[in-house]
Amino acid sequence: MASRAGGTLHPVSSRPATTATKIATRSQERARNLLSLATALSRSVTPDDVADAMFAEGLRALGADAGWLALVAESDDGALVFRMIRSSGYDRETENRYRLIEPQSGRPLSDAILFRRLVLVESRADWDARYPGQFAAVIEPAGYEALAALPVVVGDRALAGLVFTFRGPRIFDDDARTYLETIGQLCAQALDRARAFDAERRERERTQIVLGAIADACVAIDTEFRLTYLNERAAELLGKPIGTMVGTRMWAALPGVDDAEFGRLLRDAMATRRATEYETYVAQIERWLAVRAFPSEDGGLVVFLQDITRGRRARDASEFLVEASRVLASSLDYETTLQNLSSAAVPRIADWCSIDMLQSPGDRSWPPTLRRVALTHQNPQRVALVERLRERVRTDWSSPSGLPRVLREGVSEYTPDITDEIRRATATSDEHLEMLRELALSSVIIVPLAARGRLLGALTVCMAESQRRYEMSDLVIVEELARRAGTAIDNALLYNDALDAQRTAVLAAERTRRLQRLTAIMARALSEREVLDIIVEQAIVAVGAQAGIVMLLSGDGTTLRPARSVGYPREALAALQEIPADAPYPVREALRGEPVFLATAEEWNARYAPPVWKFSAKHAAAVLPLDGGGQPFGALSIRFAESHEFEADEREFLVALAQQCGQALERAHLLTAERAARTEAEDANRAKMEFLATMSHELRTPLNAIGGYAELIEMGVRGPVTALQRHDLQRIQRSQEQLLSLINDVLNFAKLEAGKVEFNTRAVDVRETVDALEPLLAPQLAAKQLTLQSVDRATTVRAIADEDKLRQVLLNLLSNAVKFTPDGGQIILSCAHDESQVYVRVQDTGIGIPTQYLGRIFDPFVQLERRLTNVVSGTGLGLAISRDLARAMGGDVTVESAPGSGSTFTVALKKAE
Ligand code: ADP
Repeated sequence: MASRAGGTLHPVSSRPATTATKIATRSQERARNLLSLATALSRSVTPDDVADAMFAEGLRALGADAGWLALVAESDDGALVFRMIRSSGYDRETENRYRLIEPQSGRPLSDAILFRRLVLVESRADWDARYPGQFAAVIEPAGYEALAALPVVVGDRALAGLVFTFRGPRIFDDDARTYLETIGQLCAQALDRARAFDAERRERERTQIVLGAIADACVAIDTEFRLTYLNERAAELLGKPIGTMVGTRMWAALPGVDDAEFGRLLRDAMATRRATEYETYVAQIERWLAVRAFPSEDGGLVVFLQDITRGRRARDASEFLVEASRVLASSLDYETTLQNLSSAAVPRIADWCSIDMLQSPGDRSWPPTLRRVALTHQNPQRVALVERLRERVRTDWSSPSGLPRVLREGVSEYTPDITDEIRRATATSDEHLEMLRELALSSVIIVPLAARGRLLGALTVCMAESQRRYEMSDLVIVEELARRAGTAIDNALLYNDALDAQRTAVLAAERTRRLQRLTAIMARALSEREVLDIIVEQAIVAVGAQAGIVMLLSGDGTTLRPARSVGYPREALAALQEIPADAPYPVREALRGEPVFLATAEEWNARYAPPVWKFSAKHAAAVLPLDGGGQPFGALSIRFAESHEFEADEREFLVALAQQCGQALERAHLLTAERAARTEAEDANRAKMEFLATMSHELRTPLNAIGGYAELIEMGVRGPVTALQRHDLQRIQRSQEQLLSLINDVLNFAKLEAGKVEFNTRAVDVRETVDALEPLLAPQLAAKQLTLQSVDRATTVRAIADEDKLRQVLLNLLSNAVKFTPDGGQIILSCAHDESQVYVRVQDTGIGIPTQYLGRIFDPFVQLERRLTNVVSGTGLGLAISRDLARAMGGDVTVESAPGSGSTFTVALKKAE
């Protein structure tokens, strides 16, 4: 029960204060009371606290003996009721009576609340006048008399009512009314505030229960970005206890986030007061978040956060793998492809990406020779830093980790968290450590690139400034990426190999073709000069050289001279005029039969005296022996303007080329020599023939004179001739005839050989010609009792011939047959022909000719040994002349014979149409 000390409403029984002092004292007392009430109310937070304060302070301020406080409420069925929540100074029965009152006008509390006015009842008389019957029924039995009922009203909302009762009568003057109204207003405001606060608190509690129950993280932030609420899930996600975060600014809870996309978008949502939705990576917590921010009534934001890291990574990864596959399939130039791949990886799966390739794929030699084909970072200056680092730092190939290990063991390496400790262990110098710290790599994955069991290189991805850390799932992705890249590289390499093989084949075919063409051209060359021209104009040009020279040994083999050159200036040729064969130049080796290939000027200078003429600073040279199958007689020197690596097949080609050149030169050389010899022989023969012709001609005149005078004497013109003398004269005449015939033969042959015999060829009836011969031979045949038989007489066949010359040939053959056939033998003359030729045969049953002589009897002046033939006469020119004549008519004379079984000479002639 509230205290009654310090009652301020004066009892009716006491005299009203009339003095100013009394009034002032009372006013001061009331002001103190109001202040005390206000203080107590302001300290009260909940409606309950306010109820306590307003009731207790009200009783005290009024000096009331009893009272109650009723709240305006609604009953279950919606009707207005007054529910007593505080009371003091009443017995249980009275309290029970007032616990729940239905509003009823004509009762002080109901009137006060319903009409929002003070109801003051001062005395029993007052009761009876205003509320007849109530004093006796209710007030008096409780032991009270005066009553004050105060409505607690805010605006037009009645919140509660306060009733204070006094034991005796009271007078409520205007001051007292004002005092009471003020008390009522203070209480009303306090109660209203407390209720509003309470409602809000309840609402908040309710919301928090809802928010706390949802699966998504949820935070509420006020206009200052202070976190006013977080659910458990949010605390979990942000990684700090709720208690440490509520009340702190978002930026303090997640340092750096205000600059990130997450912070920027939150500020936008706050400023625009519009709901927004986005996905972003929040580096501070290394998560991908789906963010939904809604403006809240208090001007702040309610933000729902969903952790989508797993899905996002998986999506990123699969998107990246699709993109990577596209990049990998885009080109067969694998270096460009790998650079594109590296670019695609940054920043999607890495801040850094680098790709190192083994110089030769599959090569497991240690340490490996690597080529960095790609290094990517979004900032080119960072790339430059790393390149500097690489230049300065020597790789420790024995390192048990990192790239050396990946390449050595062919396994992936996954370092999710690079600590400073790791950096210190890796660094090879203070400078290196400093640079590693500067790079601030946070996480790294290195995977080998391989295909079909062949190690090709390694792929490295690193995280740095994005502060992300790799997880096992990333390793799986990078390994998959490496697998695809390995296959793509392998395909590209295979394709390149195929291209190379094809190129080599085409080149080889082209070279063979060139070589064949050169051989063909050189085969037609008749002189050394022509061959040399072909060598410099075709061969040297064909191999893509800029200059070339053929150096040939002098006759004594001690010096070399330029024979032909292309691309050499005059002064260079002057300097090369007399080079000793053993001078320290590559030709020295070439003269020993060894080809020399010099890829660069340095190589030349390291092995030989500086070149007489410096072709170019980077010249390459091939110096090749020239030989015709034996000892080299010179060298072919080919010069290239640029350094030039001579591949095995090119070396083979050049050596083959030089061989062709050497053989062509040798052949041309022999051809020239042979032609000179032949001309010489021909000249000698011609001189001999001319001599013979002249001599025979000159001999005929005196011989004719000898014959003529012998005949005159024998005819007895000079006087009588004895029988003996006649006999001698006849011998002289026979010898003269024989000699003349000899000389005629020689003259004929000489004329024939000199080409001075004219032929009058036409279609000749061979049978007629043969028939005409018989009478001419009759005396000789008769002398030796030989028979001449002509066969195939019926055949009429015409041959292309000069009739006189044909007769001469046949007479010759028939004379020989007679000459070399013993008495009583037989000679057969026959004609035959085929489609193109006519054959006239002279067959005898004579002594025949030994096989070894058959080839020689047509040569001039050849006669078989007298011993064999037993025949004296003859010059050995008959057959030579006969064959020359037959050949001159387009025919020939051939022989078949064997000793003892006769000989058959055949004259073949062209058949006339
Ligand atoms: P010649 O008869 O003036 O000696 P030829 O040139 O006519 O010169 O003949 C060359 C040689 O061929 C003869 O010396 C002879 O040894 C041989 N010969 C030519 N015809 C016959 C033949 N019918 N039977 C055998 N030997 C022959």
